[in-house]
Amino acid sequence: MDLGRDSIESQLRAALAEREAQGLLRRLRVSEPFTGHTAPDGTLRFASNDYLGLARHPRLVAAAQEAAGRYGAGSAASRLVCGNLPVHAALDEALAAFKGREAALGFSSGYAAALGTIPALAGREDTVIVDKLSHASLIDGAKLSGARLRVFPHNDLGYLEKLLKTECARARRILIVTEAVFSMDGDTAPLREIVALKEKHEGRAWLLVDEAHATGIFGPGGRGLAAALGVADRIEVEMGTLSKALGSSGGFIAGSRLLIDTLVNHARSAIYSTAPNPASCGAALEALKLVGEAEGETRRKALWTAIARFAAGTGLPAASPIFPIVLGSEEKALAASAKLAEQGIVLPAIRYPTVPKGKARLRASLTAEATAEEIDRLAEALFGERSRG
Ligand SMILES: *Cc1c(COP(=O)(O)O)cnc(C)c1O
Repeated sequence: MDLGRDSIESQLRAALAEREAQGLLRRLRVSEPFTGHTAPDGTLRFASNDYLGLARHPRLVAAAQEAAGRYGAGSAASRLVCGNLPVHAALDEALAAFKGREAALGFSSGYAAALGTIPALAGREDTVIVDKLSHASLIDGAKLSGARLRVFPHNDLGYLEKLLKTECARARRILIVTEAVFSMDGDTAPLREIVALKEKHEGRAWLLVDEAHATGIFGPGGRGLAAALGVADRIEVEMGTLSKALGSSGGFIAGSRLLIDTLVNHARSAIYSTAPNPASCGAALEALKLVGEAEGETRRKALWTAIARFAAGTGLPAASPIFPIVLGSEEKALAASAKLAEQGIVLPAIRYPTVPKGKARLRASLTAEATAEEIDRLAEALFGERSRG
C-alpha cells in the first residue's frame, strides 16, 4: 500500500543528510578518561565540566566502590517502592545541609530533576516564565508541565517584570526559571534583582534557580551563586547537579520540607524511575564532604586563579569557568575548531540547537587542574597577539 510517501527509514536518512549539509550533524566520539587538560593523546582539551577535578579523585572513586560493595551495582527499585537505600537518605540529608535548606531530594540526573520538578509545581492553569538562554532540561520541563510558557530575553529584568505583572493577573501561580551560571554563555543571572521582582508577587510566584554550573564553585563552601549573593533562603527551588563540579552523577532539588514532600508525590521522574545508582550517591557524598574541607577551598582557589589568568590573557570577562567565543555561523565555528585541532587543541564547536542560529561558538571551560602553561597556550591559540598583551 504505497501512498507515495517515503518510508520512515528514508525520512530519517534525509533528515540526517540535511543536518550534515548544514554543518549540524553530530557524532559520538570516544574520549579516553583523564584528569586535567592534557589528554592521553597529548592534545589539550577544554571541554570538561569537572571543574574541581574530582571525577577521578581517589576519594570519590573509593567511595563509589565502597557504596557499590555495600548497596549493590543497582538500586533494584524506585525510591517509593523499595529502592530508597540508606545511601539515598544520607545523600538527601547531606544535600540539604550543604545548601542550608530544610530538605533535598536526589534524582538520577540534573535533567531528570528539571523534568520532574517543573511539572510537579506548575500545570495548565499556571505560567512558567523562563530566561531565553535556559538549559534544554528546563525548557523541556516547562513544556512537559502543560503550563503557559513565557520567555524573557536573557537577564532582561524589565521584560521579566512586565511578564510577571500580566501573568499574575491570569494564572493560578507563576514559576520563574533561570540558571545561576549560564551553561553556554558563562555569565551569571542577577539573582538578587530577580528575587526582588518575584517577592512583589509574594506567595503567587516562586523562583527555581538551576545551579548546575555554580554548585561547588561559587559561594561559601561552594554552596552556589545564590548563597554567594545572600539570597539562597529567598529562592523556593534550588536545583543542582552532582555531575559537574561534584564529579559524580545525579541531580537534586533543595528547599522547604513542603517542596520536597510535593516532589516525592508528584515528580514523575523520581517516582517512575529506579533510584539513583548507589555508587554515584556514595561518590557524591564524598564530594560534598571534600568541597567543604580545606582541599575543596584549595581547588576552588586554583580554579578561580585559572579563570583570572585566562581572562587576563584574552580580555574575556572572568565570570565563571565557562568562556564562550561567539563566532556566528556554523561554518565559522567548525573552521575555527578544526584550525585549533591542527595545533593539538580540542575545543568543540557549539552549534544550533544548543545555541541560537547565528551564535555558533567555541566554548572553553577551565578546571582547577589547568596549568598556567596550558591556559597561556589556549589564549595564544585563540587570540594570538592579544593574549601577549
Ligand atoms: C548539565 C546541566 C543540566 C543537566 O544535568 P545532568 O546531571 O548532566 O543531567 C541541567 N541544567 C544545566 C544548566 C546544565 O548545564
